[in-house]
Amino acid sequence: MAFITLQGLNKYFDKQHVLKDINLEIEEGDFMTFLGPSGCGKTTTLRLLAGLETQEEGIIVIGDKIVADGKAHIFAPPAERQLNLVFQNYALWPHMTVFENVSFGLEGRKLNKKEIQRKVEISLEKLQILTYKDRYPSELSGGQQQRVAIARAIVTEPKILLLDEPLSNLDAKLRVEMRAELKRLHHELKTTMIYVTHDQIEAMTMSTKIAVFSEGRILQVDKPIQLYQYPNHLTVAQFIGNPANNFLDATCKEHGQTTVQIQSDLGKIEMSKQWVSELVEDVVLTVRPEDISISKTPLKNAVTGTIKTVLPAGSETIVHIRCGESLLLAKEIGVGNYLPDSTVYIKVKAEGLNIYDRATGARVN
Ligand code: ATP
Repeated sequence: MAFITLQGLNKYFDKQHVLKDINLEIEEGDFMTFLGPSGCGKTTTLRLLAGLETQEEGIIVIGDKIVADGKAHIFAPPAERQLNLVFQNYALWPHMTVFENVSFGLEGRKLNKKEIQRKVEISLEKLQILTYKDRYPSELSGGQQQRVAIARAIVTEPKILLLDEPLSNLDAKLRVEMRAELKRLHHELKTTMIYVTHDQIEAMTMSTKIAVFSEGRILQVDKPIQLYQYPNHLTVAQFIGNPANNFLDATCKEHGQTTVQIQSDLGKIEMSKQWVSELVEDVVLTVRPEDISISKTPLKNAVTGTIKTVLPAGSETIVHIRCGESLLLAKEIGVGNYLPDSTVYIKVKAEGLNIYDRATGARVN
């Protein structure tokens, strides 16, 4: 059995149905990220898990204990759920020093002064802010304040750490640094972490698993690389990846006994029938920018395109190519020297292609 189970969660705010049958299993030690656009229900799910909100339907199990059951009106208080929370706005006490803010978390536990000091110092050390222990929050940068908030959350050694967009108030450079810090912290502590964000790079770089939310539902739960390579829904394929995925209108038809033929602005692509779970004619073909290769000289089986824009970024070059009715985005490592309006010949990696039912958004290959 999983360490945390969310089963059939449904939540309403007045008449608004904000969570629609949320089912999720989280293993002990996972770094699970709830990813999705604003308003899709990530924070509400986290708050249900924390015991800060109640659901009308569904069960939450932590360890071997049912901590919430909507129908039975059983809701264990947050303190009985083995967890701690870190919010976006650090919520530190302004009149307390860093040390006092962190030791505050230990209040009510029967510990002597020496034990408290040791635990607080270990937490501050882990977040690399021990030298600031006598400062007040107003004497710290945003990044340092967030480290204090995290130190306060881990000082009690919770089994589960919930983090709700903890990096969103930090500037871009600090956010990148803190991603690595949080990942290191997770590796060191082995605590189960559940992290809410709408930043897909943050999710991809830190998580062991990602749950993609959309309009109150979970569309896919997977390891980051699996989610990137095989999004199971068009919405996931749109949301994950930077630069963005390419989407092409296509038709998929039977072609002989054992193959299907997919026709789009990338030409005719044949695929074994066994790779197609369902034969749907009206489909969308996706290809990642790094799976498109560009040649200035004609190649066998290549499709012709016209260069529209070239965006060099130093380590890589993003190239916009007009190909029939489609505008494709290709990514090349290094410097790509292409002239706008010149003709190029493009090929795509067959393994990089995914096909979706246009009507339902579900992947069919
Ligand atoms: P964000 O990234 O913007 O925080 P989210 O995915 O975390 O978004 P939620 O905060 O879970 O989304 O909100 C889901 C829906 O529930 C939204 O439509 C929101 O307006 C609504 N909602 C959230 N909290 C309340 C509340 N206390 N009262 C009424 N509606 C709420």
